[in-house]
Amino acid sequence: MKLSNAKLFVISAPSGCGKGTILGEAFKSGNVFYSVSCTTRQPRPGEVNGREYNFITNEEFEKMISEDSFLEYAGYADHYYGTPKAPVLEKLEKGIDVILEIETKGAFQVKKAMPEAVALFILPPSVRELNRRLHKRATEEEDVIAKRCGQAAGEIEKSFEYDYVIMNDGLEEAVEDFLTVYNSAKSEDGKADKFKTENENIKNLIREVLNNA
Ligand code: 5GP
Repeated sequence: MKLSNAKLFVISAPSGCGKGTILGEAFKSGNVFYSVSCTTRQPRPGEVNGREYNFITNEEFEKMISEDSFLEYAGYADHYYGTPKAPVLEKLEKGIDVILEIETKGAFQVKKAMPEAVALFILPPSVRELNRRLHKRATEEEDVIAKRCGQAAGEIEKSFEYDYVIMNDGLEEAVEDFLTVYNSAKSEDGKADKFKTENENIKNLIREVLNNA
């Protein structure tokens, strides 16, 4: 039984791709619920417990796994990340759209459990550009940046399996493309079909980014 028309959006992008900025701009005034994940990594400067993440210990995370409290969870860059299940289901039942910003393994778990979820991948213009952006952000040590860039190509490979793919090659256009996908996935008016991965142009775009690694 479908409880409401609310949609669950699963959004992935390599670290440093600007997905936080795009979503912040797109939903300045929207009534959507951003799921706050749990993670075992340390907060970065400026991050607040309960806002960017619930920062918890390994023991706490593993207890939540054993209690089946996660909609999905995954290991990424030596840490656990997971989406608490209860708040997501509660919002969807209330008719509120939910946004998950998660990596690819978790995204596929969600799609398996809830096939009606909409999965969107945000591409960087190239892995080289991603590397430059991560250095500019300068929140991580060199070895962490190298590790994240190394992971990026593998993540981009997985984008073929998402429902939609857009590229962040400039904030304004990326926000516009994101909103096209968001609104169109809700109304099913076909306006976002050009961003569907079944589309040959999108497949070529992904191949281009991979070839420019
Ligand atoms: P960061 O450490 O840069 O905040 O996040 C690293 C990666 O973990 C990003 O790709 C981010 O989207 C992903 N991530 C954040 N929260 C979750 C979550 O709850 N589940 C999964 N599977 N990935 C997450």
